[in-house]
Amino acid sequence: LLAADGSIAPTIFAEMSALASSTGAINLGQGFPDEDGPAEVLEAARQAIADGVNQYPPGLGMPVLREAIAAHQLRWYGIELDAASEVLVTAGATEALAATLLAFVDTGDEVVTFEPYYDAYAAIIARAGGVHRTVPLHWSRDSGAGNGNGSGSGSGWRPDHDEVRAAVTDRTRVILVNSPHNPTGAVLDAETLALVVELAERHDALIVTDEVYEHLVFGAPHTPIATLPGARARTISISSGGKTFSTTGWKIGWLTAPAPLVTAVLAVKQYLTYVNGAPFQPAIATGLGLPDAFFTDAATALAAKRDVLAAGLEAAGFALSLPEAGYFVIADAAPLGFADGAELCRALPGLAGVVGVPVTAFVHPDRQGDYASLVRFAFCKRREVLEEASARLARLS
Ligand code: PMP
Ligand code: GLN
Repeated sequence: LLAADGSIAPTIFAEMSALASSTGAINLGQGFPDEDGPAEVLEAARQAIADGVNQYPPGLGMPVLREAIAAHQLRWYGIELDAASEVLVTAGATEALAATLLAFVDTGDEVVTFEPYYDAYAAIIARAGGVHRTVPLHWSRDSGAGNGNGSGSGSGWRPDHDEVRAAVTDRTRVILVNSPHNPTGAVLDAETLALVVELAERHDALIVTDEVYEHLVFGAPHTPIATLPGARARTISISSGGKTFSTTGWKIGWLTAPAPLVTAVLAVKQYLTYVNGAPFQPAIATGLGLPDAFFTDAATALAAKRDVLAAGLEAAGFALSLPEAGYFVIADAAPLGFADGAELCRALPGLAGVVGVPVTAFVHPDRQGDYASLVRFAFCKRREVLEEASARLARLS
């Protein structure tokens, strides 16, 4: 955020990626894959450029992509959408989040998120003049890896429902939910999602849901909060092609919501980017139309990568929570004698030739203590890269 002299601090991802390139360390910090996604999707972008799809697309996004998004929501979740009025294409999920919060949050309005939270949330809420209220996710170490409990038992990160109830009041304008969750890899359970809907209804709040990891789940299929009874009318669902199709640099995201909410967000988006990514829009439409097996195979392949890195981290002496979804695993460095994860992350390129991100980057400055020794590592990398990183991390013990 803004420093006293008005300068803007670089995000932790930029800082850690710069550290990786200046030291030659393996970058398990910023979450982006090191392999290209499906050939059909890449080819569709090349074709679109060749076909002259190179000028401003329509404000809501190209019809072919809006229709593909609507068809995707119907195919996977049974959600019926009007592609002409209930879908908006954005410059990544990031712009969808920014435009949504700027559209609905007025000065002093409260926005509730879980904590840790994706770092952009705090910055955008502050820019919108909102007040950020957080509900901690507690790591119960009885489940997840590192405790002889193995896979399939959940990440162990869960909110206390009384703390959720206490955070949502009539001052709450938005409950911003991120499941599957970055950085913990938790998938919120059905009871928690239902509680969010109940509280949003009781306090007349909007639900904004960031589902960018919707297809990268290692257990049960993803449940969008918009499918819960009572949720649809007050929910803005956000996703992105970046994770699903390994095209994080294309920045094609979207949101789906009732038409009046889409119109309110478009009013902001039109003066942020206006429109974005013309030739990538039909390409992501191609991706969304791929057979089910593409999506499930991608998740299976990612789960295998998770297991490689998890085994390496455990062998190196970290205590882990085993993610149920997404790109990241949280490792506790305390058993190795490192109490300060941020300090460890700065030293790690020298100590082990690996870059990670301290979990404190996802936590309010006043509450860093609870997360001090935790480091987030990305496993969306080739198997040999993860094996090499594991071998290097073994130097720590
Ligand atoms: N939300 C979460 C939870 C993320 O992890 C990310 C980063 N990948 C984003 C939003 C941003 O997505 P995009 O790159 O599509 O803007
Ligand atoms: N979402 C990615 C992560 O959590 C990074 C996105 C970014 O660099 N802002 O690592």
